[in-house]
Formats: sequence, C-alpha cells, structure tokens
Amino acid sequence: MSRVHNFTAGPCTLPTEVLEEVATELTDYAGTGMGLVEMSHRSPVYQELHTRVLQRVREISGASDEFEIILVPGGATMLFSLVPLNLLASGGKGGYMITGSWATKALADGRRAGAEVYTVWDNEGRPEMPPPDVDIEKDTRYVHITTNETIDGVRMIDFPDVDVPLVADMSSEYLARHIPWERMGLVYGGVQKNLAPAGLALVFVRRDLLDDEPLLASATNLGWYVANRSLGNTPPMFQTYLLDKMLAWLERKGGIAGLEKASQEKSSLIYDVIDHSEFYRSSVPAEIRSHTNVVFNLPDENLERKFVGDATNDGLIGLKGHRSVGGIRASLYAGLALESAATLAEWMRAFELNNH
Ligand code: PMP
Repeated sequence: MSRVHNFTAGPCTLPTEVLEEVATELTDYAGTGMGLVEMSHRSPVYQELHTRVLQRVREISGASDEFEIILVPGGATMLFSLVPLNLLASGGKGGYMITGSWATKALADGRRAGAEVYTVWDNEGRPEMPPPDVDIEKDTRYVHITTNETIDGVRMIDFPDVDVPLVADMSSEYLARHIPWERMGLVYGGVQKNLAPAGLALVFVRRDLLDDEPLLASATNLGWYVANRSLGNTPPMFQTYLLDKMLAWLERKGGIAGLEKASQEKSSLIYDVIDHSEFYRSSVPAEIRSHTNVVFNLPDENLERKFVGDATNDGLIGLKGHRSVGGIRASLYAGLALESAATLAEWMRAFELNNH
C-alpha cells in the first residue's frame, strides 16, 4: 500500500492504522453481521458506542461536570449561528475577537442570524493577537475567540482575560491543546481535522448558559441536543464511529498533552527550515505561529506553483495555501505522522537548493 504525505487543511489525513481497523469492520461490526452504519441508532450496539464516545471525550478533555458534551451535525459553521442564537436567547450581546478569516466568518454569521454581536478587537488582517486586557460592552454575555486561525496560520497563546465566559472555536487544534475550563462557557469545533471525517461538530457547553425553553426549533436548540444525548434525530453515525476509533488512538498517543507535543515537534521541523532560509518567508511572528497550520511564501508565485506541483509529484500533497490568501500551507493535524513532517522539511531544503 502506498499512502501520500497529506498536508491538507481538512478533511485531512487520518492514521492508517485507524482506517485499516475500520476497513475490516465495515461489513460486520462486532459480530452483528452488518456494518455499524447499517444498524439502527436505537440499537444497543450503537447506543453503547455513542455513550463510550461521550465518556471518552469527557476523560480526554478534562471537562468538568458543569459542561454538557454534545454532537451537532454540520460542523463548525453551524455553530457560528447556533452559538449566538442559544447564548443570547434571552438578550445580551456577544463580543468577538477578530484574529483572522474564521473569526470574521463567525461574527458575520452571528449578524446574519439576527443576534446582537460586535467586535471587541480586530487585528485588521495583520498577524497579531489581542492584548490580555480588552474592554467589553455592557450586557456582553460571552467573548468569542478563534484559538487557531487555520487560514492565516496564527495561534492565540494567551486567552483574553475578561469577566464573561469565553466561547472558543478550536476546530484546527481540537484536543491538541489544554483547555482552561474555568474560563470557558462553550467550546466547539468541526471534527474533520484532528478527530474524524467531516460532518459533525463536537461541542462543550456550560449548562447554566442555556435557557430552559428558548424560542428555537429542535435542531437549532443546543438544549435539545443535551436533553436527547445528541440522539434526538438520526445522528451522523459514521462520524461518531470514527470519532470513537480516533479517541482510542488519541488515548494511546497520550491525550491532549501527547497531541500538543506532537504538533509542536512537527511544526518546529518546518519552521526550522523557514527560519534558516532566505528563500522561504513567514510573515507570522514566531510567538504566535500556529502549531497545526504552517503558512509561508516563496520569492514569487511562479515558484510557489512549482513548489506545489513538484511536491505533488513526489507524493507530498495538499500544500497550496487557502484560495483567499495564496502562498503555501502545510497542515499538521493529529493523524499526520512525524515522519511526514520530517519528509517535507527535507524536501523543502532540497527544493530550495535546486531553485534558489
Ligand atoms: N473554524 C475554523 C477555525 C476552521 O478551520 C473551519 C474549517 N476549516 C471552520 C471554522 C469551518 O468549519 P466547518 O467546515 O466544519 O463548518
């Protein structure tokens, strides 16, 4: 079997051993004579898996009992509107830290949903992070942060110090970084980078922040997911199944601490090449560089095109930067082996030598 080194930004590579295990079970899960995705979500076999997933998430994340853990179909974009609709159901405002492309989208969707949301701080497209103390408006119920900006390659090191709960989109470093639960009100992210295939968001929400009976339809009401253990309607079973496998894998890799260390190791290999080169450039200051999305440029766009083309020919794929910013982006999520990052680093050195 030959697998490429896959640096795509999500969906992305999953560990080969996990995919192989799934492949052996696709037609017959746990001796039932059918695949997991073919059985009823009310069956005892699926119920057991579902319960195990929620338990595993709680153990790995270290979330306290104050938090409910729910699985919401659709991904992180779904939460851009569900967060303000639910947390502001009885009034108040949501403040947003604009640190890059995804934070901007989260704010815009809050507005579209008709919620009262505003900008707390804005880096205006520069690779900068907010100062520790920022002023928030009266009646602010939460401050929304994007802990890692997948497109811009910047990472928030210090979470803002505000006296309202934080809401964090952690999509591109989910469970790969310690979460300071005492400061959080809601944490969410699409699972398709570190944890599973696309189509599902994993959400932690502090119970006391949810209204008992908000004027919201079932599927948009986070309390409905809580009340029904995320089984109010037919859930995305394949995603949940893969999530179970990935959580088991993550436990073997040392949980959050293990993943955090692995991301640091992998990204350092690439940043080291950039820092020792006049050819590769990163405009992100070292202290706020992302550990999962390494974004950089070459001297010109022709060379960037050649870089991506040559890399693809050599089995290193998914390196083209996001269409909105161009350049190169190497995404280094949980499933990407250290060996793949080392291969890319070596390959980059050789490319520089041959094209400088
Ligand atoms: N937030 C961040 C930080 C992301 O990286 C992404 C996807 N790349 C999203 C939100 C949107 O996620 P989804 O595609 O799951 O809606």
